[in-house]
Amino acid sequence: MYIISSHNMLKKAQRQGYAVPAFNIHNLETLQVVAATAAQYRSPVILAGTTGTYHYGGLENLIVIVKALAHEHQIPLALHLDHHEDPADIFHKINAGIRSVMIDGSHFPFEENVALVKQIVEYSHRYDASVEAELGRLGGQEDDLIVAGKDAIYTSPEAAVEFVARTGIDSLAVAIGTAHGLYQAEPQLDFARLEQIRDRVAVPLVLHGASGLSDSDIRRCISLGICKVNVATELKIAFSDALKDYFNQHPDANDPRHYMQPAKSAMQRVVEKVIGVCGCEGKL
Ligand SMILES: [Zn+2]
Repeated sequence: MYIISSHNMLKKAQRQGYAVPAFNIHNLETLQVVAATAAQYRSPVILAGTTGTYHYGGLENLIVIVKALAHEHQIPLALHLDHHEDPADIFHKINAGIRSVMIDGSHFPFEENVALVKQIVEYSHRYDASVEAELGRLGGQEDDLIVAGKDAIYTSPEAAVEFVARTGIDSLAVAIGTAHGLYQAEPQLDFARLEQIRDRVAVPLVLHGASGLSDSDIRRCISLGICKVNVATELKIAFSDALKDYFNQHPDANDPRHYMQPAKSAMQRVVEKVIGVCGCEGKL
């Protein structure tokens, strides 16, 4: 059993001042590439899936594949629930073997968010599953969840203190100007706000929407307390672009074992780059 919670991974990252990358996985190839690259660089990684991904890949399938990859590479892997909202669905997935949860109640008013998250923490901690929650809202799109950029609300440092204390969460996702998906314009991150949150809150902080941020912005966020960096869109684009290129050059290709290869190499380059930016090489 090598599927672990994110708790110790993120606490170690917090103590040593680096970040653990969380890659959104979508298929067998993504899982293979992320696990193999993590093993090669001795890097901790989190494999994340939205509800849509678990629906697409199958909960049991994903758990079995991640266990097999952890065994094959002899590394612990965290399989994470990204942006989950339904308690019954989360409890079901914990019962099946998931040990890393994000409950996203950020679209609810503060008190409702607290009550929802508390309920998830109480259940999850009985199974040693870690819980991430979000306060404030990100722009952009994550599956069918859409937040208009102008309506995105940044995390309040004072509210973050109360939120962490009352919910007992293991990590906090902050909204400081990042967005899901690709950026329409150069993102303006609120670094001062991040620093204020870090100074007041003891749990590791999480950055969503890192695809499309500059390496220097990500590094600065890590230096200001970010311990988990979520990457989704960047992997999808690398994968799809390489596939399109391959089919343009080989219009008659029909063997997935061949045409998936350049797509896997393209994803590997993204994973290597992110591990470098996060400073987590050798931190397993
Ligand atoms: Zn997210």
